[in-house]
Amino acid sequence: MKGLHFFLGLVFSINAFAASDEQRQLEAKFDAVLSAQSIRERMREMSSEPNHVGSPHNKKIAEMIRDDFVKFGWEAHIEKTEVLYPTPKKLSLKLLEPQNYDATLFEAPIPGDTTDRVKTGMLPPYLAYGGDGEVTAQVVYVNYGMPADYEVLEQLGIDVKGKIVIARYGKGWRGIKPKLAYQHGAVGCIIYSDPADDGYGQNLPYPDGPSRPKDGVQRGSVMDMPVQSGDPGSRDAATVLRIPVLPISWSDAQHFLAALSGQVAPEGFRGALPITYRVGPGPALAHLVVESDWSKKPLYNVIATMKGSVWPDEWVIRGNHHDGWAFGAWDPHSGHSAMMEEAKAIGALAKEGYKPKRTIVYTSWDGEEPGLLGSTAWTMAHAKKLQAHAVSYLNSDASERGFFRAGASYFLNDFINEVLDDVKDPETNASVKARTAAQLRVAALSPGANEDAKASAKRIRETGQIPVADLGSGSDFSPFLQHLGITAMNVGFDGEAQSAGVYHSDYDTFEHYDKFGDPGFAYSVALAKVGGRMMMRLADADLLPFRFGELAYRVKTQMEQIKKAFTNQSERDSEVNRLIDDGAFKLAADPTLPSGVPAAKKKAPTLDFAAMDAAISKLEASAKSFDERAALAKPEKHLEKINAILRKIDQTLLDSRGLPGRPWYQHLLLAPGLTTGYAAKTLPGIREAVEDYRFDDAVTYTKRTAAALSAVADQLDEAARLLQDK
Ligand SMILES: [Zn+2]
Repeated sequence: MKGLHFFLGLVFSINAFAASDEQRQLEAKFDAVLSAQSIRERMREMSSEPNHVGSPHNKKIAEMIRDDFVKFGWEAHIEKTEVLYPTPKKLSLKLLEPQNYDATLFEAPIPGDTTDRVKTGMLPPYLAYGGDGEVTAQVVYVNYGMPADYEVLEQLGIDVKGKIVIARYGKGWRGIKPKLAYQHGAVGCIIYSDPADDGYGQNLPYPDGPSRPKDGVQRGSVMDMPVQSGDPGSRDAATVLRIPVLPISWSDAQHFLAALSGQVAPEGFRGALPITYRVGPGPALAHLVVESDWSKKPLYNVIATMKGSVWPDEWVIRGNHHDGWAFGAWDPHSGHSAMMEEAKAIGALAKEGYKPKRTIVYTSWDGEEPGLLGSTAWTMAHAKKLQAHAVSYLNSDASERGFFRAGASYFLNDFINEVLDDVKDPETNASVKARTAAQLRVAALSPGANEDAKASAKRIRETGQIPVADLGSGSDFSPFLQHLGITAMNVGFDGEAQSAGVYHSDYDTFEHYDKFGDPGFAYSVALAKVGGRMMMRLADADLLPFRFGELAYRVKTQMEQIKKAFTNQSERDSEVNRLIDDGAFKLAADPTLPSGVPAAKKKAPTLDFAAMDAAISKLEASAKSFDERAALAKPEKHLEKINAILRKIDQTLLDSRGLPGRPWYQHLLLAPGLTTGYAAKTLPGIREAVEDYRFDDAVTYTKRTAAALSAVADQLDEAARLLQDK
């Protein structure tokens, strides 16, 4: 899996905790060990056979990873568990009316590619944790299948009840599409990759270019991860979908879409296929069969440790997953191979006498793709210890040529910028920070730039810092941060290689990555430089490099957004209700076509956010005073006590009762969106309650979130007091 797009930037002025000369000498030695050739060879080996959960190569690479760690000088072992992981037994999709077509559901080999060399052992394209079922129904095209699309369909008078919906990939996490289809009464769901989104509408298809070829299919998980990640335990679990769902290529999808009649699809629904897009329903009639083997499969997490010399009970943790959907060269082995190079270089330093002050833990996760299975199992098995000892968790996943992206706990913002200032961008020789900042500022000028992009560019201008992105989900940081309150970061490069064209398909191969992803593997080396610096600086800093100004700023901005969005929503809803009363929807519609009238909107009460305003003001003051003192102080007397406070800040932001309807997610600032999937919802308890008209929840979570922020402010006050007590 791969996180969504993050935002980052630059800083010229603030050097809150610039690395010491000694640290820089250590890092120069670290850099000297890194080898692009060795990363390339490691990726070639890891992606030489299918490496999905339960495959022979998956077990083999876990053993190789463990043995490599040992060779590099680490203590390493495999932790094995068993999980419910469905694999396809029978998959079939046929068009029965107005003519017959059997979907191929097959990714044809491409000469010169791994798919031409290895023809067995891959799972066919499927979506894990969909329901078993056999259905025959008329087809409706629902565009991206997101909430806004159903509003449009409502006005067109189209109902998907009893139908099979066909949705295209994009605009939101795949698992949301069948879930919404089911909630709207559909009996089956097909998801295809439209060439407009990652195929020939973007670039030449593979092997001529990086984009998705005609047979390319995006596999993936449709487990309801915004409710909880990890092993569902049983196929009746709430996170397993109820209807059959299948992914297909555009070459298969075109037959179904071209067989639809009914109204011409509105402009935003049209992709890049050479057909007139229509919404249906019918006359296309489809027969869909999905049947899975629901047996348990083994997971192999690899854990490697280097014991700290001063504070062995404080753990700085790093991770990347090693399972893929097929060969997984880009996702996950681009990030994983770079991570292993870091471990090799830290190991080489240790052989020359380097002793990290804190314990460093490198992890290689299994079962990330189906639902963060390995990392969730491990974090839950070691929850108490992790909450007592973990300082931070640094995650990476798929990475490619391009610009640096980081999502993180906000109080790591200054630290991350500092590291990015010290690593060079391989293509321009500017710092990674300067280049990424330039890209974000230029991108914010484009006509399509959204409000977040503009806000990010403004923040870079004002502070010289790239603001870290909000952490939603989509990779292994999620159980650490959102269930256990472990301070987390998720990093990587992207934006210049369009590797998304082979995302979760058989064509995500070594040859594709070597040619398009990162030719020369210079960005893999850059990723290892960033990751290694982060790990060693966090392991060796006396006072942990956490600064809280950005946290206060972000929470304040987010609360203002929620208030504004609530006002806008209430005004729009009043207008919708007036239009219904006035009969305007009917009057404005084309009388020769079917049309519908939206349901009346619930009237919003007055919401009082004063508790949040007060807590945010308090946090701003406490953050300012802590940051100022931390910049001056060389704490010795209470160092361990202060670090213990800093280590627990994200845990203070948890509420053990969790978020409404999803108690497993306990972080009050960051969660994946219930209807967005990977993308984050900030202040989720409040924001989603407002958006979903759960106004009682909005009141409750305003109080709970304010109490947590106020507790953080108290802890920063205590840390500031200890800093000053010499
Ligand atoms: Zn991944």
